[in-house]
Amino acid sequence: MKADEWLDERERIKGMGDRAEISRDRGISYPKALSALRAVMELHRAEEYEDPAGTYFCRICGDWNMCEDPMGEQPDYPCPTVQAIDALLGEDTRP
Ligand SMILES: [Zn+2]
Repeated sequence: MKADEWLDERERIKGMGDRAEISRDRGISYPKALSALRAVMELHRAEEYEDPAGTYFCRICGDWNMCEDPMGEQPDYPCPTVQAIDALLGEDTRP
């Protein structure tokens, strides 16, 4: 099952409103969701520039230039992916 399908299935179960089924699904899906989030965060972890300022950039977005800004600069850390996750989790604790 692909991630989008997995998420759709979670939303479908939640939408049914059956508390027992929602609780059962959460017991199974919550650990999977944490593992998936951890995997994304491990991919998008901070690397330090080799400069005296000690600037950070995203290892994945910086290496592959997937999140280049319109000026063609490597994004500072946190990259847009980590910014979105931090915003949803409520706190930015990045370096
Ligand atoms: Zn990134």
